[in-house]
Amino acid sequence: MSAAPAPWLAVDPERCIGSGRCVLSAPAVFDQGDEDGLVRLLDPAPPDALRAGARNAAALCPSGAILVGGAAPQ
Ligand code: SF4
Repeated sequence: MSAAPAPWLAVDPERCIGSGRCVLSAPAVFDQGDEDGLVRLLDPAPPDALRAGARNAAALCPSGAILVGGAAPQ
């Protein structure tokens, strides 16, 4: 039995500093917690139309909290 594949998209709330850039880049994919302001992933496998925004969010994230394409954390 093999391990499940890594999700296309993942976040690490422990790295997140609550800047909100991901939500601005891809509001259908990311949200922030009402109380802690930390990232919430709405869709670990967004449709193709949303993936460019998710990649942009990962590039803009100041803390490296967004992992795209099953990539290892930076
Ligand atoms: S851009 Fe990065 S640091 Fe900012 S809220 Fe999103 S995951 Fe957190």
